[in-house]
Amino acid sequence: MSKTIIWDLDNTLYYETDEYKNKLNEATATAAIKEFKIPLEFKEATEKVKESYATYRDGLEIFAREYGIPHKELYKSYHNYKSELVKTIAPYEGLLEELQSLKCPQYVFSTSSKDICEKILKHISLYDFFKDKFYSVEDFDVYKKNESSDVYKRLCETIGISPKDCIFIDDSYSNLDYAKQCGMTTIRIYYGNNSAKDKTFIDSAYKGIYECLEGLKKDYNC
Ligand SMILES: [Mg+2]
Repeated sequence: MSKTIIWDLDNTLYYETDEYKNKLNEATATAAIKEFKIPLEFKEATEKVKESYATYRDGLEIFAREYGIPHKELYKSYHNYKSELVKTIAPYEGLLEELQSLKCPQYVFSTSSKDICEKILKHISLYDFFKDKFYSVEDFDVYKKNESSDVYKRLCETIGISPKDCIFIDDSYSNLDYAKQCGMTTIRIYYGNNSAKDKTFIDSAYKGIYECLEGLKKDYNC
């Protein structure tokens, strides 16, 4: 039986440049300062976001822990600012055709909010392809993919597929850890060096989307 592919969206089906990542960090900082009045200068708050990613693999967590800002509220506010950045994403050349050429059914599962997923998919011309087949953590009333394997189980129940029949593809290895815990096959897309070589919960790693697409066909018969 052919596997079902579940794609991460951000930095997987499009590439996040360093400039874009900085803008995302700034969006979080702006939300924390403007909407939640944290007593930090803009630069300090932006550094906090980076610290949060490094420590918790999540840019918002530190604001919940140190300033008591409800994660869900900051998540929503951050996405309002992120919305403005979608137009700056450069879509991959020919990606739709590449995805269409795979034999496996495909879904998207993202940490981004449902609205932003839709906006990004439209912007990168994949909305029609993934219509009714993209999910946000919001759909499961959580705001992270790297906290528990439960959300992966619930995703599988929703789409009616057993985790062992899924290939989950993400750039973030902390997400892959939980996908593996629920029984999925895991693939990491990396860009610079393969910094997660030692992680036993990653079944395959490919450099960039095009190598990944080739690997899916060659190594996974997709
Ligand atoms: Mg990602």
